Amino acid sequence: MLSDSEFLRYSRQLLLEEIGEEGQRRLKRSTALIVGLGGLGSPVSLYLAAAGVGSLILADDDTLHQTNLQRQILFDSADVKKPKAELAAKRLKGLNPSISCRIETQRITQDSLPTLLHDVDLVIDCCDNMATRHVVNAACVSRSLPLISGSAVGFSGQLFVLTPPFAEGCYACLYPDKEEPSRNCRTAGVLGPMVGAIGSLQALEAVKMLAGMPSALSGQLRLFNGKQHAWTSLKLRRDPLCSVCGGQHANHAE
Ligand SMILES: [Zn+2]
Repeated sequence: MLSDSEFLRYSRQLLLEEIGEEGQRRLKRSTALIVGLGGLGSPVSLYLAAAGVGSLILADDDTLHQTNLQRQILFDSADVKKPKAELAAKRLKGLNPSISCRIETQRITQDSLPTLLHDVDLVIDCCDNMATRHVVNAACVSRSLPLISGSAVGFSGQLFVLTPPFAEGCYACLYPDKEEPSRNCRTAGVLGPMVGAIGSLQALEAVKMLAGMPSALSGQLRLFNGKQHAWTSLKLRRDPLCSVCGGQHANHAE
């Protein structure tokens, strides 16, 4: 049941027939893991907390740096040098006291991730490095968890959604090479609204999916050119030889 206060707080999304009371109760029962609390994780965590996603796991091993403030809208100038996950939990609880926030301040590894994924309904990858992306992808495939992945560098943004049984493949099909790209936000720069736009769209898909709606993006890769304001849409294709999902899909087909 929703309380009077919840009916009031969420009234604008309760009005949506695709969400309604049932969708709101689903959001309340949901647990989402947000990997990375930077430029993407800021809007993702703010929108999920505001929408009433009942339980958030906030993973970030970094402390706040002055260079983050240009785009990481979760944080204040006075917070520099403090752990981002702790700062985020405080900010999000202030925004919506009824949600619960768990924090993970150690870097996610293949060994640490499975314990974090207990009870998780959906994973939102907002991290800034290839190694973590591959670890998160492999864990989502092996545990059949939906994954919403975003990234942005320069004026280029990228967004995709993977859902079980991963018929269109996984992150490792798209990027089999695990080497870090030389072009990243540190070397090439990025505008705040670029990560804001991609992060907001990750949040949109997360709220829809947790409320019980399908994602129109499932199995697709969307590329955003922020200079031209142009979107390109590509269909993801599973690599039958993919070391992460290739075997898994073959098993399903048998
Ligand atoms: Zn794959």
